[in-house]
Amino acid sequence: MSETIPHWLTKQADLVPNKKAIELYNGKAYTFHELKAASQSFARKLSQLGVKKGTHVGILSNNGIAMITAIHALSYLGAVGVLLNTRLTTNEINYQVTDAEVSILLTADECKQTADPLNVEQVYSFSDVERFTEKEIILASELCLDDTFTIIYTSGTTGFPKGVIHTYGNHWWSAIGSALNLGLNKDDKWLITLPIFHVSGLSALIKNVIYGMPIYVLEKFDVDIVHYILMNKGITIMSVVTMMVQNLLNKLGEDLYPKSLRCLLLGGGPAPKPMLEKAKSKDVPVFQSYGMTETSSQIVTLSPQDALEKIGSAGKPLFPAQLKVNQSDIYTIGEIMVKGPMVTKGYYKNEQANVNSFEEGWLATGDMGYLDHDGYLYVVDRRKDLIISGGENIYPSEVESVLSGMEQVEEVGVTGKDDDVWGQVPVAFIVKYEDVSIDEIVAFAGERLAKYKIPKEIYFVEELPRNASNKLVRSKLLDLRME
Ligand code: ATP
Ligand code: MG
Repeated sequence: MSETIPHWLTKQADLVPNKKAIELYNGKAYTFHELKAASQSFARKLSQLGVKKGTHVGILSNNGIAMITAIHALSYLGAVGVLLNTRLTTNEINYQVTDAEVSILLTADECKQTADPLNVEQVYSFSDVERFTEKEIILASELCLDDTFTIIYTSGTTGFPKGVIHTYGNHWWSAIGSALNLGLNKDDKWLITLPIFHVSGLSALIKNVIYGMPIYVLEKFDVDIVHYILMNKGITIMSVVTMMVQNLLNKLGEDLYPKSLRCLLLGGGPAPKPMLEKAKSKDVPVFQSYGMTETSSQIVTLSPQDALEKIGSAGKPLFPAQLKVNQSDIYTIGEIMVKGPMVTKGYYKNEQANVNSFEEGWLATGDMGYLDHDGYLYVVDRRKDLIISGGENIYPSEVESVLSGMEQVEEVGVTGKDDDVWGQVPVAFIVKYEDVSIDEIVAFAGERLAKYKIPKEIYFVEELPRNASNKLVRSKLLDLRME
């Protein structure tokens, strides 16, 4: 695929220069023309610093207009953006900037100090760059779909984070596949509160310029602010993770969201069934999806017409994507394999991971799932987290999903513990909302789960171990017993 397309932001600025592109909570807004002008100006300033085609530029920032402008600026220079998670420790960031061969790092003004001890020679805040003069250079008018645009590291939930290479084509096809599934309305407006340094947030920036659709950008998720915006600002779609849906449902109480809110696109991890049912009962349009950094955003989504009937399923692959489960029979659990033009061509300089993960053009996801008789995908769990007890397979997320249905339970993590008799047994760690006894939990589980799946030990804890992407790290659960 070596096709070129017109530069997407320049194109949109030609088509609808005065249409609102970006809205911020502080009331500021930018049209497509203004976004293009700011991005091109920033590109010319970056050029003074030696950034050119192929330069690896780190970006360390929370969501904001300067970050968005910087990302588009890189595309005008053909440089590669390495998007860094601001919640990582210095050591973790150092690993990523070294691994990705970052030669210049751009930071939000408030992140510049964090960058001081990093192994990067040139560090500039966005404001530092703004003070440079513009260099007269020719900016890219086209994007080659085969060229690399971004490198984003996986969350490191199962091991060391891996640098995922995204080409312009990966992002393009991700946006097109999503539009073919969700449809595109003239009045669509997408709310972003997920970090842009993750592919979930970044993909909304790309949809913004490809669809010509306004986005409303928040620095972070705050349930009161998000609830207000959903009620009042004409949002039609929002990308969410489970924690956000739970908080919004609690906040909503007996109220209803406006009918114009047509999709809360849920991704990033397992979706507990009780939560999906609660959302359904409150007419909150949650669409489950499945994807990963490697697939440039969702690759499987439950489409609107099936959302109610197939609750718990992640849906079918987007139009340009293919999916198979390494098991010939339906309803039989196997590893999920995906293929399509939005799937990364590989991990940056990580031959071992590439050899392990790719098989004749298919990406082995490391996730387990099954297909039903209509071809709908049900994601079960990560392969690494499987518990084998007395020869029976236990998927921790099934047990977690059941226990999270108890109203006294706020959060739950389940993992396996070595056992002389059974090999392994499931153990649960629970954060409570309200008082509840171990006997009550065991009784609740006993009514809903086979005996071997009922946790043999239950611990009440203050919080669950999570990584910088806020994902549950099950491998650290057992350590909580010592504390
Ligand atoms: P690492 O690959 O470094 O261990 P990670 O897999 O958590 O980290 P991400 O790319 O951020 O990094 O997350 C993608 C993963 O999230 C998927 O592979 C899957 O395990 C999980 N996930 C995403 N959507 C769903 C879903 N609908 N149901 C269950 N799990 C999901
Ligand atoms: Mg992964």
